[in-house]
Amino acid sequence: MTHSTDVLQQEIPGGETASFRPVVDRYGRRLRYLRISVTDLCNLSCTYCNPVKGCAATHPHKLSWEELEFLVDVGVNDLGIEAIRITGGEPTIRPGLVNWVRRIARHGLHDIAMTTNGILLGRMARPLREAGLKRVNVSLDTFDGEKYRDVTRGGSLERCLEGIEVARQVLDRVKVNAVLLRGFNDHEIPDFLEFSQRTGIEVRFIELMPIFGQKDYFHRHFISVEEIKERLADQGIHLETEDGGNRTGYGPATTYRVVGSRARIGFISQMSDTKCLSCNKLRMTSDGALKPCLLSPKEIKLAPAIAERDRDTVAEALRHQFLIRAERYDALEALNDPFQRSMQAIGG
Ligand code: SAM
Repeated sequence: MTHSTDVLQQEIPGGETASFRPVVDRYGRRLRYLRISVTDLCNLSCTYCNPVKGCAATHPHKLSWEELEFLVDVGVNDLGIEAIRITGGEPTIRPGLVNWVRRIARHGLHDIAMTTNGILLGRMARPLREAGLKRVNVSLDTFDGEKYRDVTRGGSLERCLEGIEVARQVLDRVKVNAVLLRGFNDHEIPDFLEFSQRTGIEVRFIELMPIFGQKDYFHRHFISVEEIKERLADQGIHLETEDGGNRTGYGPATTYRVVGSRARIGFISQMSDTKCLSCNKLRMTSDGALKPCLLSPKEIKLAPAIAERDRDTVAEALRHQFLIRAERYDALEALNDPFQRSMQAIGG
């Protein structure tokens, strides 16, 4: 099923050059990006992510840091993976994160980014930067302290904002991720635009996905990106696309500038308009399952091969999981066939 078999070369630290065979599927998509969940545990418990408060983590973090470094090494040197996104659970609560980032930064990646709730960034952004982290996306769904406490089940908005501010000072780029929730934050869109205008931070609005059988919650709170765009137009707020509306970076967002302002916003509309055709990534859960897509149940349990440092098996699994990906995945199907894992467990 492999379609391009040309051998490519890339520089690795120390001035050497590694050869690898890129993985390109039958739709012309090339594997470039691995999203790694380093723990199931989280210090918050957001209602849209984790339906049951305190939902127990089954495998807090099954793979050791050494094992995760081996995975990155195989991905980069054997398959040409260029970018890693660290996620969870909440990655910053796993002890040893900074050292691990320092170690994987030596593998010649173009980009190391992290998705976080920002609560611990106030003290961790600097050491992470020094270790090699370049970018963070911080989850922030409201600017109202009480609502923030409610949706996160106990979090402090102040600490999140403080974390964002320190990250903004030391990292190459900070973005804010806000999950759109009808009746909760859909009337705060102007506040997010004002925040972006004031800080220069891009805010990405994410359509709510139905997880873990949250049918009622989903129907109550889902609001489409299209509706948000219409509301903005009604309020005289106009958007212009950047790069003709193409994706920027390795992620799935379409980004816009707000006309007449320095505010920048992105939309991730995986429910109404998927970006499957430009998707270049695979996901690794914290218990060592390799997933072709957030929406696919076809996992390969890779922990044993990683534990044995079985390079060929790990490389073959990465290749296989990328090549079996469907042309598109339909997130709405998840409503009838709820995920077996919460978003927290997959590493949303
Ligand atoms: N703890 C980190 C955080 O808060 O960003 C990383 C893990 S969290 C699962 C990763 C991302 O998944 C967050 O941006 C979060 O907003 C998003 N997410 C979680 N549940 C979601 C859902 N039901 N629909 C859409 N996005 C969701």
